Amino acid sequence: GRLKEGLEKTRRGISDKVDDIIKSYQKIDEELFEDLEEVLIMADVGLETTERIIEDVKDKVKERKLTEASEIKSILKEELKEILEDVEGKSKLNINPSPAIILVVGVNGVGKTTTIGKLAYRFREEGKKVLLSAGDTFRAAAIEQLSEWANRANVDIISHSEGSDPAAVIFDGIQAAKARNMDILICDTAGRLHNKKNLMNELNKIFRIVGREYPNATKEVLLVVDATTGQNAVMQAKVFKEACNITGIALTKLDGTAKGGVIFAVQSELNVPVKLVGVGEGINDLQDFDPENFVDAIFP
Ligand code: GDP
Repeated sequence: GRLKEGLEKTRRGISDKVDDIIKSYQKIDEELFEDLEEVLIMADVGLETTERIIEDVKDKVKERKLTEASEIKSILKEELKEILEDVEGKSKLNINPSPAIILVVGVNGVGKTTTIGKLAYRFREEGKKVLLSAGDTFRAAAIEQLSEWANRANVDIISHSEGSDPAAVIFDGIQAAKARNMDILICDTAGRLHNKKNLMNELNKIFRIVGREYPNATKEVLLVVDATTGQNAVMQAKVFKEACNITGIALTKLDGTAKGGVIFAVQSELNVPVKLVGVGEGINDLQDFDPENFVDAIFP
């Protein structure tokens, strides 16, 4: 459905080009691999991950003694699935048992607020008691936007005024979640990426509060990155991974981008599972990430 439609440009960038290469070569040789490499790099798979993929495909071709270019496509598809499934089993959000707390981190503009809104709606539809905490206190607009999403999803929100201490908002969110017996508390955090030290300090303060005030809650630290930014998303993810213990990634704006290949780089270079994918601006446009479906969508 939505994922397949959304990934059309990525599909054209990878699958259609691979088809062209196969047609022009007939037989497998070194130049064919070079062309394949170029296709993957152009599709934002990233240099490191592309090299890994090409090496593995070459090994498989050798092992199976393949010679026809037409046999390359299924090998490549197999390899792409393997890359995404490498961290399989961990692709579910850590929210059980309740109570659970989800800390959502990421730079401004990547779709943090939207993802929190979509998640809140989903959990609420599942009959869970959900509370939001507006930890991005640096922008009044962020607090307002999150309140709008809380309305849409029909869940409560704890917020302070602009400029107040983010950790204090999270603290209050935790107290309210405990008092009201919430299943899931979803916390927004500031999205400024001034420098790594600053980010680490801010996040550490929040993590300390969570550890102290909500020690037995199930914890998920979800990093939101924007697929349309390509390799920049990988860079951001690396900075956040150094700053805190990310447990999952939400890759947004996969609809309409040609850079969907970035998912392979994110997953293989960070070794953190992509758990959610954003496929539109609507409240329903968030899906659980499924490696098999994803590769089938870009590689029919
Ligand atoms: P934040 O600054 O990280 O909180 O970002 P927002 O949640 O405000 O989102 C920034 C923009 O990206 C908004 O216009 C959203 O509607 C849009 N957006 C978020 N997620 C998606 C997605 O999955 N697909 C598309 N097409 N747009 C998205």
